[in-house]
Amino acid sequence: MSKKKWTEEKIISEIRRVMKLLGLSDRLPSAREIRKYSTCYDSINRSGGLKHYSEVLNLPTAGATMSILFKKTCIICGKEFTTRYRPAKMCSQACRNRSYLLKDRAVIKADSSRKEIRTMRDIRPSGAFDKEREAQKHGLHYRDRQIAETLRMVGNVQN
Ligand SMILES: [Zn+2]
Repeated sequence: MSKKKWTEEKIISEIRRVMKLLGLSDRLPSAREIRKYSTCYDSINRSGGLKHYSEVLNLPTAGATMSILFKKTCIICGKEFTTRYRPAKMCSQACRNRSYLLKDRAVIKADSSRKEIRTMRDIRPSGAFDKEREAQKHGLHYRDRQIAETLRMVGNVQN
């Protein structure tokens, strides 16, 4: 259906249309966004790529925006860290793990990011967290414990 010839001028107005659609004003749409909302992506590639249109429109590409580093203070260990992910609250996987080891809900409540912490707690439903701590006391990894439990269940079914 789309036999439209994509001239540079048409591509530019198409990029503007996608930007408007996505509410973007300070960067170009990403390749994925353009492919999702327009059929002009191949023509963009054939005529210099997003880099070219970044220069023409004087706007950074989505990738360039994402490479901006944000300076943050970790809510768990208090260390300063940099991240490309603006809403990041914690410096490392170790601190993310610690954040849901925190039993003290008061600490979590006092922090504005408690929603995020709760979300992470929810990743392990059905008391898996407690089971893992219990298993660790006996020198077992959670996975081993799960295997043992599964074997027990299978055994029960067969009995
Ligand atoms: Zn930290």
